[in-house]
Amino acid sequence: MKLTYPHMGYSYIAFKMLINDLGYEAVVPPEPSKRTIDLGARYAPEFACIPFKVLLGTYLETIEMGADTGISSGGVGPCRAGYYGVMHQKILNELGYDFKLIIFEPPQSNYLDFIKKIRSIKPRGMSWRTFIQLIKKGYRKLEAIDEMEYLMYRNMPYEVNKGDTAKAFNEVLKILDAAQTAEEIEDARWECRKTIARVPQDRSRIPLKIGIIGEIYVVLEPAVNFYLQKMLGEMGVYTDRSIWLTSYTQKNVLVEGKFGERDIHEMAHPYLNEAIGGHGLNSIGEIVSYAEDGYDGVIQLAPFSCIPEIMAKGIVPRVSREEGIPVMTIFIDEQTAVAGVLTRLEAFLDLLKRRREQKAG
Ligand code: SF4
Repeated sequence: MKLTYPHMGYSYIAFKMLINDLGYEAVVPPEPSKRTIDLGARYAPEFACIPFKVLLGTYLETIEMGADTGISSGGVGPCRAGYYGVMHQKILNELGYDFKLIIFEPPQSNYLDFIKKIRSIKPRGMSWRTFIQLIKKGYRKLEAIDEMEYLMYRNMPYEVNKGDTAKAFNEVLKILDAAQTAEEIEDARWECRKTIARVPQDRSRIPLKIGIIGEIYVVLEPAVNFYLQKMLGEMGVYTDRSIWLTSYTQKNVLVEGKFGERDIHEMAHPYLNEAIGGHGLNSIGEIVSYAEDGYDGVIQLAPFSCIPEIMAKGIVPRVSREEGIPVMTIFIDEQTAVAGVLTRLEAFLDLLKRRREQKAG
């Protein structure tokens, strides 16, 4: 099997190792580009949201690279994500490609189906013990990648020389990519922490604090959100992201709705007490949470035509007013351009700075 998977931030490094460990050939998806989006938009239904188009474009690009099988996650609840795997498969078949998609739905929705799919990727002859160990090792690498990306954004607003933390992070990705055994991954993690910590910082600064919320794919894939978090970091803003691939995986398999120690659905309840699909309900709870934590503002990232985020946006003005925190929504589709996003960001930062000054009297 020549296996591929969606490009989501920097997770491709861990999935590449896992697939190769299982004895398959990993076809690493290229970072989503204009070509990826154009390809996806050409064959996707017009109303489809941007994650659908990017994923379709990615499958087409990886098929060109030789992939014959794709692995992705599905979705349950009132969101179109649940149909996307089936639709991708149908479109690719109609285009004449002999490409098989294996879609993993959350195990709680159908344990038997989940186990059947796990069996389909477990190599014959490999013991379950070895298989589980390899998955755990891949997950450890994924955790290390998430941790380093998190540290990068934490440090960026304090860096003395603009761009140094991003350079250190690129170094860190190479170190993690080279680590193959469980011990090497642990050692690499320590080395990476030191690499990022070595970047000269000025901790006397008091940067603006912004929380990033929204739909998972546009939040996790920097190539689709115009590297928003890096952009803000280099503008001297401290950002916190509500979704990480590892915590999302844990939440969906273990404790749906938890955001750290707090129950994010509970926090959303005064404004919305029903699941509306995707991350709509979470988005509301996360605004409340960031307001309670004293953040200056929140940015909601939403694919254009994403029903859950559009519904959440309808409630945002009230949440923003009552919780006393400004929220800016950025809708993303294939027409969105970086210049427009930058202009809106600058205006939003001006507003937050003025608010802070007013509060300080
Ligand atoms: S959450 Fe929104 S963007 Fe994501 S699949 Fe559902 S409708 Fe599309």
